[in-house]
Amino acid sequence: MMQSRTVLLASVIGAVLFNAVASGAVAKKPAAPTRGKAPTVAEAKAFVDNAEARLLALAVDASRNAWVQNTYIIHDSEILAAQANERLINAGVEYAKQAPRFDKLKLPEETARKMRLLKLGLTLAAPADPKESEEVTRLAAAMESEYGKGKYCPQKDKCLDIQEITKIMAESRDPAQLLDVWRGWHTISIPMKPQYQRFVELANKGARELGFADSGAMWRSKYDMPPDAFAKEVDRLWGQLKPLYVSLHAYVRWKLREKYGDLVPANGPIPAHLLGNIWAQDWSNVYTLVAPKDANPGYDLTKILEAKNVDAKEMVRYGERFFGSLGFAPLPETFWERSLFTKPRDREVVCHASAWDVDNENDLRLKMCIESTVEDFSTIHHELGHNFYQRAYNTKPGLFRDSANDGFHEAVGDTIALSITPEYLVKIGFLDKAPDPSKDIGLLLSRALEKLAFLPFGLIVDQWRWKVFAGEATPANYNATWWDLRTRYQGVAPAVARTENDFDPGAKYHVPANVPYTRYFLAAILQFQFHRALSQAAGCTGPLHRCSIYGSEEAGKKLDAMLSMGLSRPWPDALEAISGQREMDATAIRDYFAPLQKWLDEQNRGKPVGW
Ligand SMILES: [Zn+2]
Repeated sequence: MMQSRTVLLASVIGAVLFNAVASGAVAKKPAAPTRGKAPTVAEAKAFVDNAEARLLALAVDASRNAWVQNTYIIHDSEILAAQANERLINAGVEYAKQAPRFDKLKLPEETARKMRLLKLGLTLAAPADPKESEEVTRLAAAMESEYGKGKYCPQKDKCLDIQEITKIMAESRDPAQLLDVWRGWHTISIPMKPQYQRFVELANKGARELGFADSGAMWRSKYDMPPDAFAKEVDRLWGQLKPLYVSLHAYVRWKLREKYGDLVPANGPIPAHLLGNIWAQDWSNVYTLVAPKDANPGYDLTKILEAKNVDAKEMVRYGERFFGSLGFAPLPETFWERSLFTKPRDREVVCHASAWDVDNENDLRLKMCIESTVEDFSTIHHELGHNFYQRAYNTKPGLFRDSANDGFHEAVGDTIALSITPEYLVKIGFLDKAPDPSKDIGLLLSRALEKLAFLPFGLIVDQWRWKVFAGEATPANYNATWWDLRTRYQGVAPAVARTENDFDPGAKYHVPANVPYTRYFLAAILQFQFHRALSQAAGCTGPLHRCSIYGSEEAGKKLDAMLSMGLSRPWPDALEAISGQREMDATAIRDYFAPLQKWLDEQNRGKPVGW
């Protein structure tokens, strides 16, 4: 569902620094600060230029190593990639710690913004004490490995990893088996609790040394507004969405009750193991249990792709032509030469789809084990969204070669995927005629189970961490706080009693790996806001879920205006360029799902709503 450029997900430092790269610039190590003398504006500028060039060079090196590691997994490629990454991370930490030295100066706007980005690029601020710094990075690596190695062994010699557990959660309809697997997976994080507690102490110490109240405040400060204002902003957006989510929740609950009987309460939270996903963050897998009888849209894109013999490369060509229809230039020849489109027969690769910009200029690549299915057709459009974004900002200074905030990069690809409508399929010759919109409830419902059901989960992962970092949640109530949030926002509950011996947040990758999560909530909101704005630019007057921006140069111009800004301006400027709005606005999701909301309310008549 949410892809990423692999390099950007490393645990210590944010996207900004990883994604930046020098074009042949000679970079030096930072000069030692001159003692006792106040720094000048010229020194500040030299410091920023130097940091930019050196980080960019290190980032290209890390990218190349990561590409080899991802497409040729062997012992040595993993070591080389980790070493290149560590060099980049250490340089980032070094610059973030030196930057506050220039805090008192009045700097030119561009230099000031870059200085800010250097300070905010960190996801983990290691304390100055070398022993503590070593301890916190070791803890981070240990927890991530622990998660990666996590397995539940229902029998002595039969162990399940997260892929196998994901498959069982998606396909099994046996509540006893689902509960067993759910419980089993939540044992893998129990040993992490003391590590996480210590990790929080040290990460907070490092964040305070950089002048932040705590690590959570450091994360929230990346959004061009005060940390507390950002927390309020997130609450406001959720407030716009809650009624729609509650309708979906009520409908799914009574349909699951038809299937599972009293295991599902009539008016309480839904048991977390019955929603088709180990975290209950995506309910697509229960679609067949909740879909109305007449929901068949009348065509099957996977069958069409098979019938037309569309192979992996041709699938990508369709995606490229989509962008071409908006006025974007074709992808460079090297994209076609260097990408990985199919799973090699004779070696291990990371199949998880990702879009790359190896030299941060024009060396764009896609890495994906493509199969000719509807899911992959959509994922290709999504991934190319990243690639076209990367190319659009490649003339900006290195530190600005990233999306306007971390929600934007994911949102662009998903925006394009929202335009894969029946009308688009007619235009590219896949369908003779678009089915009647009366058939759309099935399509909308399945999209809602994926995107709407995700929203509260996208919110609570960091709500929990913000509380932990701020000391509002303590080791004495880590798990209770987690379930309090999950019940309050998601309306789901554990089917078996939980205690503080459990550490359920640790059973989600992003917690032990220390990857901020609010970006996914923002991306879910922004993609609909972008889609609405671009559909208007394209002159679409029909229902929003039937609008495709394919072929609209007007929409392409607006999209490009935002993409080409990169990270050079605060995100409200970028949002305004594409949508005319300076605030994130969840009403676009409500517009998109308006026909579904009406239908859900009819279905829910006389049934309990809320929990
Ligand atoms: Zn993505």
